[in-house]
Amino acid sequence: MPCSSCAPLIDPFARPITYLRVSVTDRCDFRCVYCMAEEMTFLPRKDLLTLEELTRLCNAFTDLGVRKLRITGGEPLVRRDVMAFFRNMGERLGNGLDELTLTTNGSQLRRYARELAACGVKRVNVSIDTLDERKFLDVTRRGRLAQVLDGIDAAQEAGLAVKINAVALKGFNDDEIVSMAEWCAARGMDLTFIEVMPMGDLGNEDRLDQYMPVSDVRARLAQRWRLTDIPLRTGGPARYVRVEETGARIGFITPLTHNFCEGCNRVRVTCTGTLYMCLGQDDAADLRAPLRAHPDDDAPLIDEIRRAIARKPKGHDFDYSRREDWGQVARHMSVTGG
Ligand code: SAM
Ligand code: SF4
Repeated sequence: MPCSSCAPLIDPFARPITYLRVSVTDRCDFRCVYCMAEEMTFLPRKDLLTLEELTRLCNAFTDLGVRKLRITGGEPLVRRDVMAFFRNMGERLGNGLDELTLTTNGSQLRRYARELAACGVKRVNVSIDTLDERKFLDVTRRGRLAQVLDGIDAAQEAGLAVKINAVALKGFNDDEIVSMAEWCAARGMDLTFIEVMPMGDLGNEDRLDQYMPVSDVRARLAQRWRLTDIPLRTGGPARYVRVEETGARIGFITPLTHNFCEGCNRVRVTCTGTLYMCLGQDDAADLRAPLRAHPDDDAPLIDEIRRAIARKPKGHDFDYSRREDWGQVARHMSVTGG
């Protein structure tokens, strides 16, 4: 049931909620060391929202004022028939939605880039932490760099703008910061470096040792180039600089500072329909229950969304200075999709 007259979602701190990130699967063809354990037990299929339920959910949020939808996972492009969902949401572009986009590991882009473009997707974020084949296999545990690079070619051929996301990992890719920036500039791609976050219990990796503040990344770039802060805001927590010599844009995401919580306009839904109002807090709302209990009536779903947004916290509590609190948010990044 459409709800075009519904009042937009505004949280208790007067922040309008206009950006929804939706994870469409917890599965992935990679096992990145900072994201998943080597052996993962994935959710039973019945727990996942169906593509129809995902469409209803995203339509409801769009009716309530969400203008930007980012599809993520797990790896969104490994979900069977995911293009049907992209087609559905593509129909909301210009009809509520301003932007439909995705974050992907790029392994399936060769197959889907043209279809994504046909659905109205204009930009994709592709995650790559290294341009060294051997290291790429090490960090993803099973990814093939050549396949991802070919996927990026396909995306650019299809007219999609590509932004690269790289997690900054001390002792792993700190020696590639400048070369990755050169590679992105040469291909006309923006680049964002992300600090590794304390998500989930991955058992065998000491992620605290991998932590590298993006201020260190920036310092390395500044040894090579002149960087100018630019006021670009993409509705997310990234801060951007322009590299004067190449004209390229580089972003830095520091999720561990509180700097950007006050402007937070986003919420996240997992593939099971759990709504998280903040990436760094455990409070959540179950949207699958009203979706399934009322297949022909969106009113209970919308009520539940409104009750949840009324509890959106002011900010998160990640803090590396309290080392014993490391990993305090127990869910994996593949659950909320980053
Ligand atoms: N599979 C897709 C991909 O890799 O782009 C989408 C999902 S992935 C969970 C989304 C983003 O989260 C990726 O850029 C990934 O590098 C990042 N990520 C995963 N675990 C992280 C962690 N512990 N800290 C910081 N970023 C993380
Ligand atoms: Fe998969 Fe993305 Fe997590 Fe890597 S970061 S394991 S590609 S979901």
